[in-house]
Amino acid sequence: MRFVFFGPPGAGKGTMAARASKEFGLPHISSGELFRQAIRDDSELGRSVKDLIGRGALVPDDLTINLIHQRLSRPDAASGWLLDGFPRTIPQAQALSSIDPEDHVIDLEVADSTVIARLSGRRMCAACGASYHVQYQPPANPGRCDACGSALYVREDDNPASIQKRLDYYREQTAPLVEFYRSRGTLVPVDGEGPAEKVWDDIRTIMKNLLSSVQSR
Ligand code: ADP
Ligand code: ZN
Repeated sequence: MRFVFFGPPGAGKGTMAARASKEFGLPHISSGELFRQAIRDDSELGRSVKDLIGRGALVPDDLTINLIHQRLSRPDAASGWLLDGFPRTIPQAQALSSIDPEDHVIDLEVADSTVIARLSGRRMCAACGASYHVQYQPPANPGRCDACGSALYVREDDNPASIQKRLDYYREQTAPLVEFYRSRGTLVPVDGEGPAEKVWDDIRTIMKNLLSSVQSR
């Protein structure tokens, strides 16, 4: 089954998609993580998107659609996937619907004030992709990943100016997708406020029901 994890930056798409991937055995495909890996590899793609991403701007649709199209063509994505961070524009959503249409869009609803608070204290592990928060979800050893022990870092776009930019882009370019998916009948609104455990509990239940309703058909 094919799920899109949708919502503003900091909504928890990455955290929830990672848990869902473990629980349901579907590949977690994060456009942001694919771009950051390209930047770390210093590939041609990485060099062309580095400045845009650092400023909080969007990567052009053609590059992004290409990247996702390639990733979805790999064998592990043949029987389902969890997309995180894609689509972010109407043309991206239209492209996905012709490449490999989504079954459900998990729409994580959070207030702007929550986004700002979450992103401002976020810490990331480059080695395993785990994310933490200095107040809400601190690692056991400050600056070290609980899962793998690597050093944590602050994402280049988690600074106040870029956070504001990302919220502006979300409102202008991405929020219209809520209507797009509602009218396709694939939108599943979820309350993204509160602790990660609570949100995960809701999502796990929803996904379980959706997956078992297909198996019992
Ligand atoms: P967040 O959801 O916290 O903003 P992501 O890791 O999903 O973070 O994305 C980080 C950045 O990567 C975005 O701000 C944007 O510059 C770029 N990016 C990721 N996905 C897309 C996309 N689908 N379209 C355009 N740019 C993207
Ligand atoms: Zn780690």
